[in-house]
Amino acid sequence: MNASSKFVYLFGSGRTEGSADMKNLLGGKGANLAEMCRLGIAVPSGFTISTEACTEFTQRGRTPVLALIEAQVLHGVAFVEAEMGRKFGDATNPLLLSVRSGARASMPGMMDTILNLGLNDQAVLGLAAKANNERFAWDSYRRFIQMYGDVVMNLKPSSKEEHDPFEVIIDMLKEKRGVQLDTDLDASDLKELVQRFKSLIRARTGHDFPTDPWEQLWGAIWAVFESWNNERAKIYRELNDIPQSWGTAVNVQAMVFGNLGDHSATGVAFSRDAGTGEDLFNGEFLVNAQGEDVVAGVRTPQQVSLLGSRRWAELAQVAEAERARSFPSLEELMPDIYTQLLHFETTLENHFKDMQDIEFTIQEGKLWMLQTRNGKRTGAAMVRIAMEMLQQGMIDEKTALQRVSPDRLNELLHPIFDPKALASAVPIARGLPASPGAASGQIVFFADEAEAWAKKGKAVILVRQETSPEDLRGMSVAKGILTARGGMTSHAAVVARGMGKCCVSGAGAVHVDMKARTMTIGGMDYAEGDWISLNGSTGEVFEGKITTKNAELSGDFGRLMALSDRYKRLEVRTNADTPEEARMAHSFGATGIGLCRTEHMFFEGERIVAVREMILADDESGRRKALAKLLPIQRGDFEGLFAAMSGLPVTIRLLDPPLHEFVPQDDASQRVMAADMHVSLGKIKMRVDELHEFNPMMGHRGCRLGISYPEITEMQARAIFEAGLNMRAKGIDVKAEIMVPLVGTAREFNLQAAVIRRVADAVFAERGEVLPYLLGTMIETPRAALVADSIGKVAEFFSFGTNDLTQMTLGFSRDDAAKFLPDYLKNGVYEQDPFRSIDQTGVGMLVQMAVQKGRSVRPGIEVGVCGEHGGDPASVAFFHRAGLDYVSCSPYRVPIARLAAAQAAIGV
Ligand code: PEP
Ligand code: MG
Repeated sequence: MNASSKFVYLFGSGRTEGSADMKNLLGGKGANLAEMCRLGIAVPSGFTISTEACTEFTQRGRTPVLALIEAQVLHGVAFVEAEMGRKFGDATNPLLLSVRSGARASMPGMMDTILNLGLNDQAVLGLAAKANNERFAWDSYRRFIQMYGDVVMNLKPSSKEEHDPFEVIIDMLKEKRGVQLDTDLDASDLKELVQRFKSLIRARTGHDFPTDPWEQLWGAIWAVFESWNNERAKIYRELNDIPQSWGTAVNVQAMVFGNLGDHSATGVAFSRDAGTGEDLFNGEFLVNAQGEDVVAGVRTPQQVSLLGSRRWAELAQVAEAERARSFPSLEELMPDIYTQLLHFETTLENHFKDMQDIEFTIQEGKLWMLQTRNGKRTGAAMVRIAMEMLQQGMIDEKTALQRVSPDRLNELLHPIFDPKALASAVPIARGLPASPGAASGQIVFFADEAEAWAKKGKAVILVRQETSPEDLRGMSVAKGILTARGGMTSHAAVVARGMGKCCVSGAGAVHVDMKARTMTIGGMDYAEGDWISLNGSTGEVFEGKITTKNAELSGDFGRLMALSDRYKRLEVRTNADTPEEARMAHSFGATGIGLCRTEHMFFEGERIVAVREMILADDESGRRKALAKLLPIQRGDFEGLFAAMSGLPVTIRLLDPPLHEFVPQDDASQRVMAADMHVSLGKIKMRVDELHEFNPMMGHRGCRLGISYPEITEMQARAIFEAGLNMRAKGIDVKAEIMVPLVGTAREFNLQAAVIRRVADAVFAERGEVLPYLLGTMIETPRAALVADSIGKVAEFFSFGTNDLTQMTLGFSRDDAAKFLPDYLKNGVYEQDPFRSIDQTGVGMLVQMAVQKGRSVRPGIEVGVCGEHGGDPASVAFFHRAGLDYVSCSPYRVPIARLAAAQAAIGV
C-alpha cells in the first residue's frame, strides 16, 4: 500500500465507483449503497473508506493511515458537498454527515452510528435558519453530541446504576420542566441540554467537545476503525466465524432528515414478509421522526402498505375509521412516495434476487434510500421465499436449495411458542438447545409421576438432574424435558430428539432437590406442579405457561424436500426404536432405519421384569428362562419396525449398554424390585455391586455382553429372523440388517457372527424358508477404524457410531464433557462441540481411513453413520465427501439431513 493506492470510493448520482460485488473491499453496506446508485435509486451521496484502510490502521496506527487517506477523504467530502449543494462546517447552509461502520458480513451492534456530524455552535444556527425550525436544529445537535460523546469520546457511566449519563441529564431536565417525553422539550430546553452535555464531556473525559467539523470527522473515522477490535466485535466474530483480518469499511454519507415536519418521515421495510415469507411488501414508518425513533418503540409506527395497515389494525383491534384517521398507511398518506418506494423495492429485489430489508427517509416530500440488504427471516419464511422465487423464475433450483439453512427447518417441524405470547416472556435460565420445539407444562421430578399426571390429562415437564433409561416412559409422556446436567448427546438429549420432544439439557443454574421436590433457579424456588415453559430450539427456560401452536408443513416444505432428493447422493435413514418413530421418520422422508437401539425396548412395561430376571440369574439356564420370556416381545417389536419400513432397510443393533443400566441404583427402588421379583434385597444389592464399573462406557457393554452371554445374542437374532419371516408372510418386503456394536477386532465380530448365523440357519431350517439379511458392524472404537480392512473382510456393512468414536478418540466422556467443553470452545481448542459436529480433522480422519480400508477389501461395502452427527449439516457435508452411502439421524432431523445432503452434493 502506498499513497497512490485507492482507499476511498465515491457514490452518488453523478459518480459511483463501487458496486455490489465489491463487498470485501467496501463492506456489505457500502457495496450495496454503491449498487443502489448504479440502479438509479435516490441515495444521499457519500463515500466509503475501504476495509483495506482499516487493516492498515490496525497494523500501523493513525498517523501513517492519515497520510494515506487524507487527500482522498478531503476529495470525498468535496464530492458530497457538490452533489448536495451544501458546505461541510458552513454557518449558513451546513452539510451534515452520518458515519457508519460496515464489514463484509453484517455485525449488528458492533458500533453505533454517528448522525448529524458537522454541527457546532455556528452550524446549528445555519441549520435552524435553513430548516426554519429551531427546535429541530438543537435537537439534532444534542443527539449528535450524545452519540459522539458515547461512541467517539468513550464517555462511560460512572456507576453501574447510571446506565447512560446523558439520559440522566435529560431525565433531570424533564422533571424540572414537569414533562414526560423528550418531544415535550422545546428549543431552549434542548439548547440547555447541549451546554450540559458539553460540560459533562469536559468533566468526565478532560477534553472539550470538538467544534471543528474536520476534527469531528477524523475522530469518528478512527473510532469506527478502532471499533473493529473492541470486545463486542471480537466476541461477535468469534461466535460467527468472522476472520479478524477482514476489517471494517467506513461509510460517510450526507444526512437527510425525516424529522423536518409532516412531509418528512423515516422507516424500514421488507420486500416479503420476514415472518411467513408471503410475497407482500411490508414495513413501518413514522412521520416527522429519525430512524432511531422507529426502533425505539416510543411511538406506534404506521404501516407502509394499506393491506399491511388493515392487517395490523385487525391484530391491534383498532377500528377502520380510527386506523384511517390516526394510523394511515404510507400508501394513503403519501401515495406518490409509496409508488416510488414500491418501485425501488421491486427493482432491488429483482436485482439482488432475494428478499430485501430496506431503510428509507422522506425529507420534505423527497424519498431517499439509506440501506438495502438481504433480510433476515424465520425458517418458514426461508422455505417459502426460496420456493416461490424458484417458481417465479427469479432463481434456479440450486440457488433455491442454497437459500435455506438446514438447521432452520427445525422451526417448521416442532410446535412453536405463539410469538405474541413469547414477546413478554423473560427467560429464568438457559441450558443447551438439546431438542427443538416449545413446551409448557407443570413441573414433575419423577418419571412415574409424569406418567400418572399425564394419564390425568395434565401437561408435564419432567425436570431431572439427568435422565436414565428408566425415565423413558415418563419422558415419552412429558411435553418437555429439562435437565440440570448433560450435554447434547446426553441420554435426555438423544432420547428427546428421537421422540421429537422438546428438551433443554445441562441448565447449570437449575438446582434440583428431588427430596424436597423443588428446583431452585437464582434464589427462586419452583415446586412440583408449578408451570414452566421450555424452548428447546434456544435452550431457554421460562416461568409460567406460554401458549404454543403446532407446526404446519406447507406445500413449499414438501417441494423443497422433493428438490433436495433430486440433488442429494447420500441416503437419509433414521434412528428409530419404535414403529411410531419409524412411521414419523418415514413421513419425513427417511429411506430406512439406520439404527434401532434394541435396549430401549427393554424398559417398557413387563419386559424390564424379564430383563432383570435375566440379570439376576445365577447361570446360563436361568438366563435362558428369562430370555425365553423376552423373545416373543422382541419379535413383536421387530415386526412393527419391518412393517413400518416395508421395502426399506431396517438396521437392528444388538444389545449395547452395560447391564447396570437396567437395575435400580437407589435403595427404595431396589426394595420394590426385591418385592416384585420375590428375591432378597441382599441378592439385588450384591448383583448391583457386581455390575458396578468405574468406567462403564469402557466396561462390560456392546459385543462384550454377547461374547460373555451368547444366549442374549441368540434370543435377539431369533427374534429378528422370526419377525422377518412372519412379516414377509404378510406381504411385507423385509430388508433386515443386523449390527454388532462396539467391536474392535475381527475376532470379536466373528464370535458374534457365528452365533447369529447359527441361529439363522436353525430358524430357516425350522421354517423351511430363508430370509436374506446383511450382517455388519458398528465402527465406533478407534481400533475398529484402524483395522477396518480386516473387519471388512468379514462384516457386510459398516455403520459409524460417531458418538462412541468421538468419545473414545478424544478421550472425553460424552456424559461429562459438558463441564469443560464451554472452556474448550471459548479457548478455541475445538471450534464446535465435537459431539454435535464431527471433529473432521481427528475423528473424521478415522472415518475416511476406515471407508478406504473397508472398500479395499470389500468393494461397494455399504457404509453409513448412525451417531448424532448424522443429523448435523456440516457433518453431513463431511460424510458426503468421505463417500458414505447414508447418514442416519433422529426422525426430526431427517428433513435437515436431506437438505444438507443436497447442499453437499451441489457443493455449498
Ligand atoms: C454411537 O456410538 O455413535 C452410537 C450410535 O451408539 P450409541 O449412541 O447408542 O452408543
Ligand atoms: Mg455407540
